[in-house]
Amino acid sequence: MRASAGGLAHGSNGTRPRIEPADRPGEQDRLRAALECAAEQLARLAHETQARAGAEIAAIFEAQAMFARDPALVEPALTAIAEEGRGALEAISVAAAMHADTLAGVDDEYFRARAADIRDVGKRVAGILEGRLELPFQTSAGNPAVLASDDLDASVVAELRREFVAGVALAGGTPSGHAAIVARALGIPLALGLGEALLLLPEGAEVIVDGTLGRLLVAPDAAERLAIASDGVPPAGSALDLPPLALPVVVEGNAGSVHEVEQAATAGAQGIGLLRTELLFLGRTVAPGLDEQRALYRRICAAMPNGPVVYRTLDVGGDKPASYRTAAAEANPALGVRGVRLGLRQPQLLEVQLRALLESAPDRPLHVMLPMVATLEELRQARAVLEQAARASRSAGLSVSSEVRLGIMIEIPSAALMADIFAAEVDFFSIGTNDLVQYTMAADRTSSELADLATAFQPAVLRLVGGVCRAAEQYGRPVAVCGEAAASPLMAPLLVGLGVTHLSVAAQSVRAVRQALAGLSLDVCREAGAAVLRAQTSAAVQEIAEALSLRPRASSTSGS
Ligand code: PEP
Ligand code: MG
Repeated sequence: MRASAGGLAHGSNGTRPRIEPADRPGEQDRLRAALECAAEQLARLAHETQARAGAEIAAIFEAQAMFARDPALVEPALTAIAEEGRGALEAISVAAAMHADTLAGVDDEYFRARAADIRDVGKRVAGILEGRLELPFQTSAGNPAVLASDDLDASVVAELRREFVAGVALAGGTPSGHAAIVARALGIPLALGLGEALLLLPEGAEVIVDGTLGRLLVAPDAAERLAIASDGVPPAGSALDLPPLALPVVVEGNAGSVHEVEQAATAGAQGIGLLRTELLFLGRTVAPGLDEQRALYRRICAAMPNGPVVYRTLDVGGDKPASYRTAAAEANPALGVRGVRLGLRQPQLLEVQLRALLESAPDRPLHVMLPMVATLEELRQARAVLEQAARASRSAGLSVSSEVRLGIMIEIPSAALMADIFAAEVDFFSIGTNDLVQYTMAADRTSSELADLATAFQPAVLRLVGGVCRAAEQYGRPVAVCGEAAASPLMAPLLVGLGVTHLSVAAQSVRAVRQALAGLSLDVCREAGAAVLRAQTSAAVQEIAEALSLRPRASSTSGS
């Protein structure tokens, strides 16, 4: 994500006193009006977001607009005013918190995820009652600020305007939360999990959000300003003047919406290395059908006419809930029925998706990727579902892609360790470092407190990456990295040095990654790759990466 600089601005909250019995009907009316106002704002936000970030993100706010009129939220709040004399502000805050807590306690990930939306709606209504309406973080035009907060709701992020907000810095937050997804879709630089120290920074402190590395630079020096400012390109960047590469590596885009595919194409991505199909159907209560999916995949193909699109089959479960998932409640969702495990337990879901993919562009090669594969049996079973899907399409008289490449994500250490076995049966690997790090280091990827452990700079993770590349080489298989590590300018050259052939990153990072690779020779990267395999600590890996980034560069004029 692009970098940005500005002074710091903090958000705030407030409360109201109790209400006399005679004033309670009036207070109820005030709450009803605020709820209606919130519902209208959210509907408008859904409409605007549709154009700025796509239908999938807009759906989040359509659902929130419904919650603002939901009796399950509204009635307890009105009762609390009538019977307990609570003010409208307190009544809605308590009702939203209770409703959200109830949902958070339900043994269903879909409902748990809705809890965050209810809290978001409650805060919006409270903001309206307090007279804090839209654009709560507006600054003087032409003087954008970095917004610092403990955490932000997705709807607040969706309302941020680039002319006022240079970037967002959060003490908490996780990369897979709705707020981060919306920020990414809007091209807003974001740094998450910065800890409580962030909130102690004085208002107006000079800071830069380096969205590419997800860090906040406080009182940046001239060199840092220059380095980050050189990234100051339009939101997703443009393909104009992209640095050519002498290295044998393809830089592709990650996407979760048609809009993001378009952004990746505009930014010069050489294809889509990871299409997170589950994000296309975010917030859905019923599984998407064959016709709808086929039509959507056609739009995606059209948005990336000159490069391949690697479609990852639905990766729901874990921290990505979907109500059409029928698996039982789980004590450890990250270790539960997610990714291909779900697809194999609900083969109808997988078959419909594979049919839609096969039928979507029969004249183009199809790249299908399976998430969360742990065993060879899973791969073989999924391949059987793919073959069954092709038969079903053909017997319905539809043509299907004649060239189908099936690959797997390497996200689980078992798959990395068995890469030599898998390599004989797949067409490509794509290493999902976000999960591979989590499962290798036993450190929750959503925990900001464990960020030091949950990083691809850990030598154990890089040894797995190196092993996968060696296994893939024996069979001539390409190896991509599509986790966040691929977007790190420090990490990208190391990955290439380890044998990675494709880096798939958010559109906003395409330029920065190419810049990090430009002018480096393969020998130099390999030397650093060999060094990290000998490194004993993540600090040592970091040193090797930094030394590599400071190497003199050849001014290359040819390449990919
Ligand atoms: C990953 O795990 O690195 C990955 C790319 O998949 P996701 O982030 O969608 O789990
Ligand atoms: Mg993953």
